[in-house]
Amino acid sequence: MHIPFVDLKAQYETLKDEMAEAIRDILDSAQFIGGEAVASFERDFAAYCQVRHARGVASGTDALHLALRALDIGHGDEVITTAHTFIATAAAIVATGARPVFVDIDPDTYTIDPKMIERALTGRTRAIVAVHLYGQPADMGPIKDIARRRGLYVLEDAAQAHGAEYQGVRTGALGDVACFSFYPAKNLGAYGDGGAVTTNSAAIAERIERLRDHGRTSHYSHAEIGFNSRLDTLQAAILQIKLRRLDEWNANRRRAAEWYAVELAQSGIKTPFVQKGSTHVYHLYVIETNERDAMRNKLDQAGVATGIHYPVPLHLQPALAHLGYRQGDLPYCEAMAARSLSLPMFPELARDQVRRIAAIARAAAEQDGHKKLRRKSTYSPAALRAEAGKEWR
Ligand SMILES: *Cc1c(COP(=O)(O)O)cnc(C)c1O
Repeated sequence: MHIPFVDLKAQYETLKDEMAEAIRDILDSAQFIGGEAVASFERDFAAYCQVRHARGVASGTDALHLALRALDIGHGDEVITTAHTFIATAAAIVATGARPVFVDIDPDTYTIDPKMIERALTGRTRAIVAVHLYGQPADMGPIKDIARRRGLYVLEDAAQAHGAEYQGVRTGALGDVACFSFYPAKNLGAYGDGGAVTTNSAAIAERIERLRDHGRTSHYSHAEIGFNSRLDTLQAAILQIKLRRLDEWNANRRRAAEWYAVELAQSGIKTPFVQKGSTHVYHLYVIETNERDAMRNKLDQAGVATGIHYPVPLHLQPALAHLGYRQGDLPYCEAMAARSLSLPMFPELARDQVRRIAAIARAAAEQDGHKKLRRKSTYSPAALRAEAGKEWR
């Protein structure tokens, strides 16, 4: 029996009638750009994120790009972020003309390491983009301390973390401005592309509104060159329905993660670590193993679909070769590229499916060559660098 990586059909089955009605209402209204459905979703999403303003945009990538532009970041500026993320995080920085500066991740949470940010600061640093990777908030306390001391902006890439919390505060409300994706497979997903920017600043919200709509201040007056990057009315109506179920879906993801943790305990496979005071919403359930490719093959042969997030760290991507990074520069990012394996994760995942997946992973971990991976106390960058020749690629 095949187990998919994500199952969007299972979710749609539970929403069918409500969706049909909402979509029919939009078709009947013949308003496809803007209108009350967009405004109403923006209000609900801002309230959900415990923040004053939300503005819908065309994608998560555009949310990042427009948010950076709204802060007037561009040529000559440096923006610090992690190399262990989706390409869009860096692509948005490059699109403004600014230079992405990559620093390493914490080897347990897989989010940007605040200590490494300190070392990367220069006179040109303008902002930090913290990625709440896999559904866990980055360590925002120390990141915001650095930013406050140095007068930098903090942006959240919250594309994988709708509804996650850091010390009781929701993602979207943790920095100066936050960027969400509603790509279909995200925790809150549209039926197509979509995204949002959230902020407590009215000025930033207004600037996003202008940038997403051709720099318009009125129908035929353009204060700046902007973009066509609006959230479709249909998608807003769909998202508004799904938003009401997000907490329930996130709770189901957490339940599945607990099942995995129970099944994989004692296996020597490194399972997700949740920082004290944070809630994880498990956009992805990512394990770490030095025999990643062998384990992935075994799961594949048994009909279990898996993913790798991400197989090439951004500092080693051909598209970013001009930045001049080399292999070995960011050991923990590179280790995750070689060792991470994403197991099936979606709210409808069943107990017996998790049991089956874990049994195959455990069996693979008992094969020769598999090493017990521990948390960071016994797992230093120097040790990783020494292993690099043997183990990575
Ligand atoms: C999905 C994702 C994006 C981009 O979102 P799109 O809506 O696909 O443009 C950006 N950053 C991260 C971390 C993501 O996972």
